Amino acid sequence: MEIISKTSRLRAAVAELRKLGRTVGFVPTMGALHHGHASLVRIARERQAAIVASIFVNPRQFAPGEDYESYPRDLVADCEMLRKEGVDLVFAPDADEMYPPGFATRVEVDGISEILIGASRPGHFQGVATVVCKLLCAVRPDFVVLGWKDAQQLVLVTRMVQDLDMGVEIVGAPIVRDGDGLATSSRNARLDPAARSRALAIPRALAEARRLAEAGERSAAALAGAVRTMLEESPGLEVDHVEAVDARTFAPAEEIRGSVLLLVAARASRADGPAVLLLDNLRFDCNASGALVGVS
Ligand code: AMP
Repeated sequence: MEIISKTSRLRAAVAELRKLGRTVGFVPTMGALHHGHASLVRIARERQAAIVASIFVNPRQFAPGEDYESYPRDLVADCEMLRKEGVDLVFAPDADEMYPPGFATRVEVDGISEILIGASRPGHFQGVATVVCKLLCAVRPDFVVLGWKDAQQLVLVTRMVQDLDMGVEIVGAPIVRDGDGLATSSRNARLDPAARSRALAIPRALAEARRLAEAGERSAAALAGAVRTMLEESPGLEVDHVEAVDARTFAPAEEIRGSVLLLVAARASRADGPAVLLLDNLRFDCNASGALVGVS
């Protein structure tokens, strides 16, 4: 496994893999890697692809006052994990390599960038779209693996790739959870034990929504309302949003039909430090006659 910090070397190394006839899968990350990231690499590996992973904490997707400086970083441990998972190339540029003096381009995906997480983190998705576009131009993979945990990001990147005819397949990876049900996240390391146990209200509330849907509830408002009530009754959790949306377009969903995501974003407060934003969701898939055929 080669660890690369320069885009020029990355391009050459990918070209060498292509000469060997390999398809190329790409897993972009911000590091502080965990089981969720490993699952993305495994999905790429199952496709027999050469795997490029990137580790870059992208300053442009953090607003002033957010946790850019304190975002967890551990390049050595991350590379060790990627090596064990069979990654071929790790691209770990610094901010000057990605944004050299004079860098002036912004990628804006209208609509989806401004709602939900985009509403509470203005500018965040412009930063995400810009860096993902730049990384895809550098790697030029056949496919990119993205986690459904960050559903809004996944749908935004899908829109961008379609709009710009980038010719990259988007592969969505299911949410990986810790043993207690909390969606695995680099930011979970910030949760003290009390905050973590409060955060478990999120998977509990989603499990209740699942139970209600499996019992026949099809009103998106009823499911979102049940989740919101459970979260609002949990001390130490501040709800950012609970919304049901179409899984392809992110348009608001009124009923569970087709593929619907029930999205949760909530801040878990900590005794000593700023609250930690946690994201989770549940996906409902129905068949053409409206029967619920999958919840994940
Ligand atoms: P991050 O390093 O947090 O920017 O995440 C990099 C990629 O890993 C994104 O596509 C995330 O959606 C994905 N990811 C992070 N956590 C999980 C998880 N628990 N399950 C599945 N994918 C995840």
